[in-house]
Amino acid sequence: MQQAKEQALQNVEHVAEGVAADTLSEGKLFEIAQSIGDKRLEELNVADTTCGYCAVGCRFDLYSDGEEILAARPTAEEDAPVNGISTCVKGKFGYDFVNSDDRLTSPLVRDENGEFREATWDEALARVAEGLGSIKDEYGGEALSLIASSKATNEENYLMGKFARQVLGTNSVDNCNRLCHSSTVAGLAQTYGYGAASISTEDLELADCILLTGSNTTEAHPVLATRIKQNVRDGGDLLVFDPREIQIAEYATQYSQVKPGYDAVWINGITRYIIENDLHDEQFVAERTTGFEDVKASVQEFTPERVEEVTGVPYEEIASAAETIADADACVFGWTLGLTEHSHGTENVMAMANLAAITGNLGKPGAGVSPFRGQNNVQGGGGDMGPLPDNFPGYQDIADDEIRAKFEEAWDCDISGEYGYYTTQMFLAADDDDIRGMYIIGENAALSEPGVNHAEDVLEDLEFLVVQDLFVNETAQYADVVLPACSFVEKTGTFTNTDRTVQMVKQVMEPKGDSRPDWKILQDLANRMGRDWNYADTAEIMDEVNSLTPLYGGVSHDRVEANGGLQWPCWDEEHPGTERLYAEEFNTDNGKANLQGIGYSEPAETPDDEFPFTLTTGRVLYQYHTGTMTHREEGIMQYTPSDFVEIHPDTAASLGVESGDLVTVESRRGEVVVPAQVTDRVGPENVFVPIHFAESAVNRLTDEERLDPSAATPEFKVSAVRLRAAGPEAEPTTPAAETTTGDD
Ligand code: SF4
Repeated sequence: MQQAKEQALQNVEHVAEGVAADTLSEGKLFEIAQSIGDKRLEELNVADTTCGYCAVGCRFDLYSDGEEILAARPTAEEDAPVNGISTCVKGKFGYDFVNSDDRLTSPLVRDENGEFREATWDEALARVAEGLGSIKDEYGGEALSLIASSKATNEENYLMGKFARQVLGTNSVDNCNRLCHSSTVAGLAQTYGYGAASISTEDLELADCILLTGSNTTEAHPVLATRIKQNVRDGGDLLVFDPREIQIAEYATQYSQVKPGYDAVWINGITRYIIENDLHDEQFVAERTTGFEDVKASVQEFTPERVEEVTGVPYEEIASAAETIADADACVFGWTLGLTEHSHGTENVMAMANLAAITGNLGKPGAGVSPFRGQNNVQGGGGDMGPLPDNFPGYQDIADDEIRAKFEEAWDCDISGEYGYYTTQMFLAADDDDIRGMYIIGENAALSEPGVNHAEDVLEDLEFLVVQDLFVNETAQYADVVLPACSFVEKTGTFTNTDRTVQMVKQVMEPKGDSRPDWKILQDLANRMGRDWNYADTAEIMDEVNSLTPLYGGVSHDRVEANGGLQWPCWDEEHPGTERLYAEEFNTDNGKANLQGIGYSEPAETPDDEFPFTLTTGRVLYQYHTGTMTHREEGIMQYTPSDFVEIHPDTAASLGVESGDLVTVESRRGEVVVPAQVTDRVGPENVFVPIHFAESAVNRLTDEERLDPSAATPEFKVSAVRLRAAGPEAEPTTPAAETTTGDD
């Protein structure tokens, strides 16, 4: 352990020096001058804004000459609570997409030959009103669904939920949170009350110990990874449990390679060790929790032998992790989608919530749970604002009569108390004609849904599909009407980041061509469909949000601006926001953390003789989701221009392939042909393929039917596959190219 720690410290020092040198050697003005050539600074637009890529929520100044983004540079450190002066490669350089040649600058409608042609807004909105309206008239609003966008602002997502319920008459409104952290939300909400991180980002530096699992932090959340590395540099312990020996593992005091799909087993193994050895926090358990005896009884089955056999983790590593957590005065438990994208993701999260609670690691500096959210505004737009089938904004249950009456009155409409379909269920419901029309905003379902062969069939067969986006992406190719939207640099509003901080997003350029912000499109469409929306700007929309949403009761644009961000809950105009959840009580009926024992679960599809390998999927640093933004960045594309499959050297030898040779990866749903990347980063029984490329869409291999029973999150992280050398005659489903992954 000591040797591992020394090595980790050396690595961290090296990286920390690199970060500092990179930042400090170039003065801000010098950098800007370099980026903008001979343009005069005073002639430029500048906006202090929030990154539109990931949910870390970095803040920086964007410079524009009105035509394009010229530079992204650090803002004053005190104005950037999450990132200070750091940004990653995407936040710093990822703006070519705004002016991309194929950016949508006018609406498109299908002509009589089924081809897209440009149309006026008037014609396009009329077609949408007619297409959605006629389905509503014939089959009822429940036959329609709306997929909202976690890339859009809070205010726009609020309107998406309102539009679905008030204008379309459906509760089938959801978003990409269903594909990632819905199981986190379900698991944490059941246990503690709020489905969100309890910590502030600062706690990643204050913690004595950080347990990370299912999080490729250096690639998916680079700036958070920097803070974690700084913690290690300052003497903190880092425990990493992951199927892949990802880069953050280099900085860990302990890395344990786990078998994908059995996270609750090793977590329960740690919990059992802690309880058996009386290492739990008795006072916290007695005063602030219920259900401890249930947890104690349920972990008995996770004996050392069983945990080791099921997860592949030597028991001494379970014991040493337990000792490290118990020794720490404050521990953060961090995770990403490796914990959640399972057929039992909610149980995984609840097992982690039990561990954090029995060790008393909640509500104090340097301690808590931290699901690292993915898209820039999935916490706010995807959750808090309530474009959800079961919740109004602020997680107010639509089945609650009193709450529903409040929204019916405010929105002047009847709302059913029956939950609508989750995103993943919408596609299954369409098979039975229970969903006939969809409105998809800023979400590329044709690539991001599990089992995209099925999703494509559904999109093709819908009676009416309207897509609102920056590009004619893979989903828009099935649309009847495509509406051109704006990116985050062309509009003003708020995003809420992974630690619940609501931050301003500011317009620095005019919308390209005839594109419009989502909120204006929704307003025009609502009015065309019989409503009377009159929002002058997004500040007015936020005022409506805070009047209906207790969690955001004190959130207004003026206050967010004046405070440099506000963390919810923020109950009223006097409230300063909440740095850390659960300092005094949990958000449950009894004010306690209600722990529940979690038994054994396994993936819904396990490897067998026919499909002997386990496929996991995930992200790489230089790409973002389905690539609609990053694939249009020439500089970024040089680093990871195409897909690949990571395979272990033993597997490569058995197949007779080397790095760069084409391999066919096949599941029961489909196959892709991609170049091999031979590495012992993955275990011999596992393979890994990124999620970012349409040509080799890895979701052809995943399964649309294996969903978490509570959250309906798909099991992206476990699919049984088989491999074969594709041979020299094969054509890749993506161009073969040298690929790299790595930190910035
Ligand atoms: Fe943007 Fe995330 Fe990178 Fe920060 S870490 S600059 S929020 S992509």
